[in-house]
Amino acid sequence: MKCDVLVVGASPAGLMAATSAAKGGAGVILLDRDLAGLDHAANTLFEGMAAASGVRIEDCYLKKELEGMSILSPSGQSATIPAKGYFIDRKKFDEHYLSLAQNCGVTLLAGAAKKSLQQGNRRTVYLDDDEIEAKVVVDASGVSSGLARQAGLQPMRHPEDIAWAMEADVELPGLGEEKFFQYWIGSMAPGWKATFSPAGGDRATLGVFVRGHGQNVQPFFRGFLKIFKAHKAGQYRDIEDLKILSIRRGGDPICVLPGEMTANSLLVTGGAAGQSGLAYSMRAGTICGTVAAQAVGRAAASTDFSRKGLLAYEKLWKREFYWQYRMGRASLETLAMMKDEEINRLVRGLSGKTLISSGSFAKKAAYAGAVVSLYRPRTLLDLAANLMRS
Ligand SMILES: Cc1cc2nc3c(=O)[nH]c(=O)nc-3n(C[C@H](O)[C@H](O)[C@H](O)COP(=O)(O)OP(=O)(O)OC[C@H]3O[C@@H](n4cnc5c(N)ncnc54)[C@H](O)[C@@H]3O)c2cc1C
Repeated sequence: MKCDVLVVGASPAGLMAATSAAKGGAGVILLDRDLAGLDHAANTLFEGMAAASGVRIEDCYLKKELEGMSILSPSGQSATIPAKGYFIDRKKFDEHYLSLAQNCGVTLLAGAAKKSLQQGNRRTVYLDDDEIEAKVVVDASGVSSGLARQAGLQPMRHPEDIAWAMEADVELPGLGEEKFFQYWIGSMAPGWKATFSPAGGDRATLGVFVRGHGQNVQPFFRGFLKIFKAHKAGQYRDIEDLKILSIRRGGDPICVLPGEMTANSLLVTGGAAGQSGLAYSMRAGTICGTVAAQAVGRAAASTDFSRKGLLAYEKLWKREFYWQYRMGRASLETLAMMKDEEINRLVRGLSGKTLISSGSFAKKAAYAGAVVSLYRPRTLLDLAANLMRS
């Protein structure tokens, strides 16, 4: 098979890359090894990030609107951030964007990419018993992707810092009706967070996202479940009846920072390039697909799809996201330096205050830094040091 642009992985980034490349006039194949039954974990996003990424939340996959998030410390102190958020039906979300891609002319193909080789000025991707030659290949196959590394790229600057996650769909009468996400921080989920996300009715998800403790984070999940049940015991008399319906595991590249994303005839996007989060990776995929289509169009006469021709993707991505990701990593590194007692003190200090949730990224970051420093003065110094190191 031959095409202009081959996208590997129907991840949020891959779906958007395929759609935007097709909209840009390229002939696109979107390949996924699990195309018949996509089963992705991520199911929550916030209005601010969605709007900044140009993502419109569609009714066809929206399950529940939430009013914001509560940050909880190990001892159960909480501070609230009003910020509109969404719990989505992930299967319907994937179906929606797959059908959008198809409507734009993308060909969907089930199969697993095994390796890719640059041949002349094209790249051939090998499947079990087939091969596809493309002018540009987009690797959007998630955190465990091998295509970019095979091509000699280091698409994550800190791959050892993937947060490994375990998330459960749970059921308890009324649990899904709560109005705020809960993000627990501290030793119950070192390096990132434990989460409670109400999905409406009796359904919710509970998860742990842990850095620096390997891929098996089940012990942390068990620990968090106990903390969660103890915390909710006053609110739900039957909390011990909480049923775990299903479990998903995976890696969240929240803190790894994107590295090299471009090689000859190859672009890397989404989790594969350390671009974490549904909304931001969709925007990254859109930029990636647009640049791929432009390269294909521009190079049609000269057939040149070199790294130089594709570098616009990195440039455009950096212009929008570089500092946000660096600040994000520095913040999580700073959080990881705090002991539980410090987090308890900090959240106790913030409790009852309304933390800012609107305005520019810089304004929100400055405000959050100033407020946190009131209760933990060393924070700004730690943050600056971590920013320099990131
Ligand atoms: C448990 C968990 C919960 C999360 N929750 C949230 C959340 O609520 N909100 C949020 O914003 N972010 C969340 N994240 C982070 C989020 O999942 C990712 O940052 C984001 O979805 C980007 O997805 P991805 O690029 O990693 O690709 P993935 O979603 O991993 O998709 C990769 C795709 O590539 C396919 N693929 C892989 N290898 C091949 C191959 N060789 N050939 C063909 N196809 C292949 C896979 O089948 C898959 O469909 C969560 C992460 C985890 C692990």
